[in-house]
Amino acid sequence: MKLTSSSVALVTGGASGLGEATVRRLHAAGAAVVVADLDPARGSALVDELGERARFVRTDVRSPEEIAAAVEAARELGELRVAVTCAGVATPGRVVGRKGPLDLDTFRTVLDINLVGTFNVLRLAAAAMADNEPVDGDRGVVVMTASIAAYDGQVGQAAYSSSKGGIVGLTLPAARDLAQHGIRVMTIAPGIVETPMLATVSEEFREGLAKGVPFPQRLARPDEYAQLALSIVDHDYLNGEVIRMDGSLRMAPR
Ligand code: NAD
Repeated sequence: MKLTSSSVALVTGGASGLGEATVRRLHAAGAAVVVADLDPARGSALVDELGERARFVRTDVRSPEEIAAAVEAARELGELRVAVTCAGVATPGRVVGRKGPLDLDTFRTVLDINLVGTFNVLRLAAAAMADNEPVDGDRGVVVMTASIAAYDGQVGQAAYSSSKGGIVGLTLPAARDLAQHGIRVMTIAPGIVETPMLATVSEEFREGLAKGVPFPQRLARPDEYAQLALSIVDHDYLNGEVIRMDGSLRMAPR
């Protein structure tokens, strides 16, 4: 789908990391952008820097009302054609840890933000896209973010991997459901990307992670995720599939 000056993109988690890189690429490609994120400081700084045709809407992806407001903000800027879901958390915890079984609320919260939150954005963005005039049959595209942890979940990733596995499972039925509306659904499963999410681990640990990647032997860059997201937007025949972006990394148990 070609982006035009009337195209608007909604990016959740758009204030940081993969989402921020995607906001920058979409804006540079000519789309108006809505940055939907919990973090008003980073989100506002980003839209101030981008200037025209960029808006921050403080949003919790779990909230139907707040995502509806972000979608409405997008429609005020033009036609919502692209939604990219990057909001997520990676709270670790073993099934049975030192303090006993993993707290059910911890598990639920990760599922709620990563999986239910993604579905919330998918359903409300797609409902708005369904009203668009088709361009070459296309009304819009949704790009969701899983992780290679959906397939190779490590020790301590029970909740995270379950949430990302849910997004992988959602991809094909969502694409099939939305085909009649001319809306495509794709998922990117990144490997290890150098974002603020990784800032909590030591430099030494990061170097160890990079050495485990066959080629290129480094961590991925946020802009490489953004580049893939825009390629998916551009490529009309990609639909209902998950693309791993991982330098052929297959994660070990720990
Ligand atoms: P990040 O921490 O840099 O950015 C995540 C953003 O999501 C933050 O701005 C945060 O404020 C926002 N957010 C968190 N909870 C939210 C909520 N409930 N509602 C709205 N916004 C919320 O992380 P990142 O590395 O850019 O990760 C983005 C996505 O990519 C996540 O879904 C993550 O699981 C996935 N991912 C990351 C990596 C990696 O190595 N960095 C690998 C695979 C998958």
